[in-house]
Amino acid sequence: MNASLGRIHLVSDDITQLSVDAIVNAANHSLLGGGGVDGAIHRAAGPELLAECRTLNGCETGQAKITRGYRLAARFVIHTVGPIWHGGHQGEPDLLAACYRNSLKLAADNGIQTIAFPAISCGVYRYPLAEAARIAVREVRNYLADDDRIETIYLVCFGEDVQHAYQQALQE
Ligand code: ADP
Repeated sequence: MNASLGRIHLVSDDITQLSVDAIVNAANHSLLGGGGVDGAIHRAAGPELLAECRTLNGCETGQAKITRGYRLAARFVIHTVGPIWHGGHQGEPDLLAACYRNSLKLAADNGIQTIAFPAISCGVYRYPLAEAARIAVREVRNYLADDDRIETIYLVCFGEDVQHAYQQALQE
């Protein structure tokens, strides 16, 4: 099921298959690939993506860097590093919010109008889903209110639990 709420859309899909200007990668510090969505994006984009990532000297938590999309339908990949969940008292909420804000600013500055986000930090990094979904929804709404350069933001629900968390967050 896809839900449309103005410029924010929920989609249940594999992010690597989306025809958008940019997809966001929930990467790690090294930007040299990993498991989960990161592994799927590198497999779909091909080895040229890793080659470009090697030139970027990694990325700090909460920051974002951009590459081309290579064999993806998406023209760009925005790599952001979400916080690892340590219980919530090590700045995790602010860092997760920064991932969304910095990714969106970088996208807008590069002329990107359509962008898809996975649920950053909600896999191996164990961020509690309901809280992460609330932060994602708050940040994308705030961003869209302040900047009309981005046309559509897709929040990708890879699994029903993620979809449920976003639906709840959108209703709050
Ligand atoms: P992190 O290390 O930031 O937790 P993960 O890749 O482990 O990153 O998980 C982030 C989210 O991405 C999870 O909700 C996971 O279900 C989702 N995910 C994994 N593979 C894909 C995919 N191919 N497309 C979209 N989302 C995905």
